[in-house]
Amino acid sequence: MRHLYLNGVWAPSTSGEGVDVVDPATEEVLDRVPAGTPDDVEAAVAAARAAFPAWAGAAPGERAKLLAHAAGLLRERAEHVARVIATDLGAPYDKALRVHTLGPAEILEFYARLAEGHSGEAESIGNSRVFREPVGVVGAITPWNYPLHQVVCKVAPALAAGCTVVLKPSEVAPLAAYELAGIFDEVGLPPGVFNLLSGRGEVVGEALCAHPDVDMISFTGSTRAGRRIGAVAAETVKRVTLELGGKSANIILPDADMPTAVKVGVAHAFTNSGQTCSAWSRMIVHRDSYDEAVRLAVAAASRYTVGGPFDEGVRLGPLISKTQRDRVVHYINRGQEEGARLVCGGTERPLPRGYFVEPTVFAGVEPGMVIEQEEIFGPVLCVIPYTSEDEAIKIANGTPYGLAGAVWAADRDRAAAVGRRLRTGQVSVNGGAHNPLAPFGGFKQSGVGRELGRYGFEEYLEVQSLQF
Ligand code: NAD
Repeated sequence: MRHLYLNGVWAPSTSGEGVDVVDPATEEVLDRVPAGTPDDVEAAVAAARAAFPAWAGAAPGERAKLLAHAAGLLRERAEHVARVIATDLGAPYDKALRVHTLGPAEILEFYARLAEGHSGEAESIGNSRVFREPVGVVGAITPWNYPLHQVVCKVAPALAAGCTVVLKPSEVAPLAAYELAGIFDEVGLPPGVFNLLSGRGEVVGEALCAHPDVDMISFTGSTRAGRRIGAVAAETVKRVTLELGGKSANIILPDADMPTAVKVGVAHAFTNSGQTCSAWSRMIVHRDSYDEAVRLAVAAASRYTVGGPFDEGVRLGPLISKTQRDRVVHYINRGQEEGARLVCGGTERPLPRGYFVEPTVFAGVEPGMVIEQEEIFGPVLCVIPYTSEDEAIKIANGTPYGLAGAVWAADRDRAAAVGRRLRTGQVSVNGGAHNPLAPFGGFKQSGVGRELGRYGFEEYLEVQSLQF
């Protein structure tokens, strides 16, 4: 069994109990992490609190140097970390390396540079001088789907800003967080600046949210857990940022380059086996092009070879767990019961072992169906017809979520104008790529606050004004 990382040392949990980590491609137990307790939370928060004044007061260059060193080590051992993530999450190895490991290294490097230039003094307003102070002790709670990226999106800006951190990674895929903790230990972050606490959300996560000495909770995960976290944290009036679920729409206008729009749309829907908060899980297509789009989507989906993370040519790994597979299968059944047309994939197991699901496409999906409204979090695409542009926008905005989306048209400005009418935090115009320096976050029930880039850094700063 692994240990917790508290106050600069690896230590056992007070529970003595553990949580199994399961390889989703083989269904075998591959590791075991401690099931942390509220007493462990006490120890972690005390360490982070004690470390805060010195870390907040350290020269920005000092913080920058340590973060840059950590990024360098992550790059140096990227292939090892990618193998850990590929095994723990099931992501195809090339994606585990490029997206799940080198992506976070780039984010760490960005925040190291930002830390270097952060003086803490913001501006003068009349007789006032305005300062930006680190918010304090941050409790970071992360999901399993991008197990290193989600952690780095929080820990890097928090540390760069001068905050100290208690990280509670997902108990479902915790191993990448252990790699990062090892790196922070090696670069010599002062004890207590970064603490790793594994365990269950309802136990460790809630204790962290309730703790009066935690100044801020930064959470990424389901809307269900986010709601609970917001309520628990409100008791002690903490700052809370929430990065939650999504049901993002990909609107294809009639004059768009249909083969490209559909191919890229399918890729976005199935990325990380559909376990992506910003997945374009709804493709909204004009009735005149609908049959063609469905045909193209089925053709694109059939090129997603299912298999283990280290198998040749695989594009679709397993889902993370049995629970997740059962959930996705439930939605595929539900879609058929609701009258949607299954045109590709389904509930059959494509392989005898592992939590795999076939790439699945539903046609004839109508607004309001459960599969059109709820986040499925699997490789399931819904293709929905529309008649007018206004109707397309209404369908796109017609869920409780507001995380991401896409618009395609022959004319870029026209696509952008439709994009501006979407109530979502980000919109891709004609396939515009994800930008790791642009703010990322949700409208509506997709969350509160932003991550990444300068906006993500600001979340970890308090404002103080001095009047002269
Ligand atoms: P989850 O909400 O079940 O768990 C996320 C984390 O919260 C885990 O560490 C879990 O242990 C913890 N947790 C659960 N209940 C808690 C509670 N009551 N108090 C405190 N902590 C608690 O989510 P998941 O299944 O790990 O991840 C999938 C979800 O994450 C999806 O809904 C997805 O859309 C969302 N997500 C959002 C973004 C984003 O940036 N908006 C990014 C990735 C994932």
